[in-house]
Amino acid sequence: MGFWRRFAFGLQKWMYGRYGSDTLNIAILITYAVLYIVAQIFWLPLLAWLSMGLLLWSFFRMFSRNIAARSRENRAFCSFFQRLAAPFRRSARSIKDRQHRYYSCPKCRNTLRVPKGKGKLEITCPVCGNRFVRKS
Ligand SMILES: [Zn+2]
Repeated sequence: MGFWRRFAFGLQKWMYGRYGSDTLNIAILITYAVLYIVAQIFWLPLLAWLSMGLLLWSFFRMFSRNIAARSRENRAFCSFFQRLAAPFRRSARSIKDRQHRYYSCPKCRNTLRVPKGKGKLEITCPVCGNRFVRKS
């Protein structure tokens, strides 16, 4: 066996039962890279140390054997990020779609699409049955 194959095999064996990478880890690494670059440009040693902490955190998560806890963190992060990105996605869609308007239900945050230019409409949310009036 050549060196690289042995190396890959050993790494695989070592990673067995460990968590590995996920979306949260990639986000941590990107944040680390950005903070590190900013710290280098503006000469901020404290920020460089803080970004080091992010790097260590991502390593800790990657090599962790507590897979249940790590995937729980990842799920929490993904749903948080989706909530964060939802308004941007919604506005991007309403720019593309000129025949409809998009509203989010005030009760359950479900996105609703109504035809444009129909005046005042009473909208019924199909998910929770909540009714509200909006100008279309
Ligand atoms: Zn609703």
